Amino acid sequence: MNPSASPSSPVSLLGIPFDENSSYLRGTAQAPPRIVEALYCDSSNLWTENGADLQAKLHDLGSVALPSGTPAAFAAIERAVADELRHQAPLFLLGGDHSITYPVVKAFAAKFPNLEIMHFDAHPDLYDQLGGNRFSHACPLARIMEEKLARRLVQAGIRTMNRHQREQAQRFGVEVLEMKDSGHWPRRAFEGPVYLSFDLDVLDPAFAPGVSHWEPGGLSVREAICALHSLRGRIVGADLVEYNPGRDVSGRTAMVCAKLVKEIAARMLGG
Ligand code: MN
Ligand code: MN
Repeated sequence: MNPSASPSSPVSLLGIPFDENSSYLRGTAQAPPRIVEALYCDSSNLWTENGADLQAKLHDLGSVALPSGTPAAFAAIERAVADELRHQAPLFLLGGDHSITYPVVKAFAAKFPNLEIMHFDAHPDLYDQLGGNRFSHACPLARIMEEKLARRLVQAGIRTMNRHQREQAQRFGVEVLEMKDSGHWPRRAFEGPVYLSFDLDVLDPAFAPGVSHWEPGGLSVREAICALHSLRGRIVGADLVEYNPGRDVSGRTAMVCAKLVKEIAARMLGG
């Protein structure tokens, strides 16, 4: 067994401060240090709800220095993630807008050929293009599935499906757990290594207003944590994307991010 994949390895946190593919508002590039600050804020502690002490189990790598422009930035993101994956696993990326998931998953797919993706989001992010941009934060899962970077995609919390994206979901064989059916979601178990992509706007904006796209009718923080606890599978990588500090006047959404980082990191550690 590869020692770097042992459950006793700490979870490395790597910031991806990039928001050039946001279709509506900028600001998510400011997120990574704000999330880390909330994580270590004295108002809470580093224990998870299931009794794991993360004090010595999180390793903050800081943020990747990125050039401007999507082609150069995506290449730098993929390279940085591939470099970390050589000796760091599991790896937790802090976005950034959701477009970063495409270059990140490219690097993961090179190391984990049987990758399965669990994706929490208000939006399917399956557009072929949005406003002429094929790398928009509305498109990453379309790029990932086209290039067969994952053998399976499960999406939960979706509540903005249109005809085009429903067709895309069928084309790629996506398993969609729509928000309107949230009382009856079947439990999903994963066989292969899992990449977890968590777009913060899957939460109801009442609980997490610090996002660019307010989409009412979403998960409560409690429901999201219960969904994370009930996931079955080995999570080798994760991202938390779309936190926009510019919309988070009270700093409350940063604390929601910190809570999610703790509970997801614990799952990555096998807890
Ligand atoms: Mn998204
Ligand atoms: Mn979204």
